[in-house]
Amino acid sequence: MAGRILKGNAIRDRILADLGGEIARLAEQGVRPGLAAVLVGNDPASRIYVGNKIEACRRIGLFSQTIRLPAESTTEEILAVTAELNARGDVDGILLQLPLPAHVDEDRVLLAVRPEKDVDGFHPMNVGKLAGGRPALAPCTPAGLIEILKRSEIPIAGKNAVVVGRSNIVGKPAALLLLAENATVTVCHSRTKDLAAVCRAADILVAAVGRPAMLTREFIRPGAAVLDVGINRVTDPAVAEAVFANSPRRLERFRQTGAAVVGDVHPEHARETAGAYTPVPGGVGPLTVAMLMVNTVKAARLRRG
Ligand code: NDP
Repeated sequence: MAGRILKGNAIRDRILADLGGEIARLAEQGVRPGLAAVLVGNDPASRIYVGNKIEACRRIGLFSQTIRLPAESTTEEILAVTAELNARGDVDGILLQLPLPAHVDEDRVLLAVRPEKDVDGFHPMNVGKLAGGRPALAPCTPAGLIEILKRSEIPIAGKNAVVVGRSNIVGKPAALLLLAENATVTVCHSRTKDLAAVCRAADILVAAVGRPAMLTREFIRPGAAVLDVGINRVTDPAVAEAVFANSPRRLERFRQTGAAVVGDVHPEHARETAGAYTPVPGGVGPLTVAMLMVNTVKAARLRRG
């Protein structure tokens, strides 16, 4: 029997609908949460990401503003903008779209964001709170994974969760959030021995590797919940043929466009073996922006009491 598809768009819509109610209640008290996005340079992908986030704010009635800075901006200039946003009463969340240009001291800039306004959850203060089991503002993609599980009524407590990937933005915070939900957590990485066997012990398998369709059926315990964070652009026809062998529609689209987005888990094998799984695209991805909205409203509540 094919696994249940965990549809990120539908879950995102439910989160945003819930948030709408909270925004309306805050509006009655004269509070309109606000997000400021700082975009340095002209990276096309970053512009799209920021555009999506600002558009989501507009849709649900949050105040939002994009501050565009030239690619040549110095660390000092970006720090000055950050200080201004830290001080502004109408800005609850500050989003520094990464990556910053190579000449900018990214660590210094991230450290300068007031932790109460750090809606990405990257400030060491928020990382520390997460590690201490008292998350205030948790990173958006990992927080989205927990929402997918909870809203799909997939139990976490007491389950074996295996996270493949240990990055600071996905793998590690995902492991800490699962631990906070009382899962028994294993974190894997490029030096893990017999990765497939470790993954097969997972009731909940999180893939955050960045390698197209790397986790095949021998990594998946039959019936497991599989959350695929990977977003990999595939242009090699041999890879596309292998991944989409049983998906004529996707293969056809690949042939027309010359590219496809593939997760870290083999989509066919997830469908056949998992009990529930997130597709790519349309699984974990849509949750990231929704959780940014959640964090902005949370930051407004926390900061304004
Ligand atoms: P990183 O490159 O920072 O981390 C990848 C991790 O995977 C590392 O810990 C690495 O191990 C591990 N890894 C690499 N190769 C292997 C292997 N062969 N076996 C086991 N582990 C391996 O990636 P990110 O965490 O930033 O992103 C992961 C994926 O998620 C990417 O595809 C990215 O595009 C996507 N992503 C999606 C988001 C969304 O909104 N849906 C948001 C953010 C990312 P080691 O530490 O030992 O090097």
